[in-house]
Amino acid sequence: MGSLGSSERRSEWPYLVTLWTGGCAFLCAIAWACMSLQLRLATTGFCMLIAIVLLSLLDSFVSSAIFSLCGAGLLNLLFTPPIFSFAIEKRQDYLPLVAFLVTSIAVTSLVRKIRRAEAVQREQARLLNLTHDTVFVHDNNDVIRFWNRAAEDLYGWTGQEAIGKPADSLLKTIYPTDRNELMRELAQNAYWEGELVHTKRDGAQVIVSSRWTLQRDNRGQAVAILETNNDITERKRAEELVQRSQAQYLAEAQRLSHTGSFGWNVTTGDVFWSGEAFRIFEQDVAVAPTIALVRERIHPDDVQIFEGMLASVKTDSDRFDIEHRLLFPDNRVKHLHVVGHAVEAGPGKRQFVGAVMDVTETKATQAKLRHIESELARASRVSALGELSASIAHEVGQPLAAVVTNGEACLRWLRRTPPNFEEVEGCVVQITDEANRAAGIVQRVRRLMKGAPPEMVPIEVADLVQEVVALVRLELERQSCSLTTRIESDVPAVMGDRVQLQQVLINIVINAAQAMSANPGKHQLVIGAVRDDSDHVILSVRDSGPGIREESLPRLFDAFFTTRSDGMGMGLAICASIVEAHGGRIWAANNADGGATFSFSLPACVSSGMSQT
Ligand code: ADP
Repeated sequence: MGSLGSSERRSEWPYLVTLWTGGCAFLCAIAWACMSLQLRLATTGFCMLIAIVLLSLLDSFVSSAIFSLCGAGLLNLLFTPPIFSFAIEKRQDYLPLVAFLVTSIAVTSLVRKIRRAEAVQREQARLLNLTHDTVFVHDNNDVIRFWNRAAEDLYGWTGQEAIGKPADSLLKTIYPTDRNELMRELAQNAYWEGELVHTKRDGAQVIVSSRWTLQRDNRGQAVAILETNNDITERKRAEELVQRSQAQYLAEAQRLSHTGSFGWNVTTGDVFWSGEAFRIFEQDVAVAPTIALVRERIHPDDVQIFEGMLASVKTDSDRFDIEHRLLFPDNRVKHLHVVGHAVEAGPGKRQFVGAVMDVTETKATQAKLRHIESELARASRVSALGELSASIAHEVGQPLAAVVTNGEACLRWLRRTPPNFEEVEGCVVQITDEANRAAGIVQRVRRLMKGAPPEMVPIEVADLVQEVVALVRLELERQSCSLTTRIESDVPAVMGDRVQLQQVLINIVINAAQAMSANPGKHQLVIGAVRDDSDHVILSVRDSGPGIREESLPRLFDAFFTTRSDGMGMGLAICASIVEAHGGRIWAANNADGGATFSFSLPACVSSGMSQT
């Protein structure tokens, strides 16, 4: 600002008039002194030139020109014959005067140019001092040539202390790459940027974001490097903190969800595990994970699953999703769910990332749930049998009564003289048949009461229906309900658990009987079985009861949905879960002529035989 103010002042007229009169007087004084000392023209001209250069520093070209003309005039007046006249006698005397004039103007212009360049440099340096970025210049030998105020503030050395010192040894620079490589890049692009670590005067390290620009001279030769740095230590520290806490959260989340992550380079065989993956495989973090290490831990019964996954991944599969178990030396078993997918790894390389989840607890919970479900189903069966108790008692009572009658007849034939062994034999055969009938019913009831695990076997549909009919027949008769079965001849066997499928049919039949009992009079129940198009068997129970209320239809198979005051609403929900577990579905609809029909489909057994009506 100061230099600008003074140039404004200088252009004011009073200043100029003073400068010009004072300057010309000074030149006159020099010329008079030189003349008094009888110095020669050349010496006087030289003295005047010096005075003009000094005076020209005080103002612009106009002043220099005025002083140069004044000097030339004085040399003409006092040193060129005729003396004290501006006339010039000899033509050759023009030469020194013109030479003086040209030299004077050229030298003053040159000096002013240098001064202006200096001023520009000073201004630039001043601006560089204003910036918050540290700026310093180091030459080809890495010696510091310029050091701005921000550099003083950041690093702690003043400009005087830093200038002249090699930058690298002063700042103990740590480069992100090899310095020679950096210099090559700088020479090529005239620019480099990256992060550096510098050591301050107090020994503390700072991370700076650094930009280097190569300075070249007129001939294109590299002369210096302008280095601009800003301090990113705090930002870096904050980023590091965020990264660290994110990593901590991730590790915590992995630990909570028992989910480890892994990376696997199929080409090189390198495996990377997260901390949780080490915990799942119960390996020390110091051990380098490998596929061989994983293989060692695989449960012998699941080795095939694992090898199958390895084979598919090595060919062209881009993802895998497997479940297998691990067997530990102390015979503990862990259930794992492993998923992975291929990621971009460059040409000819195959790399996978994925997650390994320890699902042992989930599996145990699922097993418990299955157990509870089967207990519930059993409870529901027992309760259904309770409803059929009169019917069952009758079914067992009838053959027992026949056994008693035949036994008494047998005794009578034996007491005759002579005993009639032919009749006795006939009675004993009947006793055996009746006892077998009773035993059959008891066996069926016991099977329904038992909480045995499900056993999937091929079942003839006609047999299934017959066994159910044997249990419910009397109950239906008691309610004045006729029962018809319509099993089509081409119905194949179904694959399923006999007890569970009987339970479904019994539940539906009992529901139908209960619904029909609400309407007095004769009723009809039809149990049917047909083969549908898609290799499924459809079993249906059609009743002549009041039908299902429209609003109840969507909720029939929901747990705890009931319209009966003493109902639990679990019967149909259990039926639905059994049928779905068998790969089928269940539905209900009202008949056009009254009553409702409950149907369920079951997949047909592949190696099936035909059933008869
Ligand atoms: P619950 O028998 O304990 O009520 P279910 O799940 O067996 O439980 O039956 C749920 C409801 O379905 C019954 O309360 C009844 O309203 C309806 N329902 C079942 N079968 C029939 C049927 N054949 N006719 C009319 N409504 C029925």
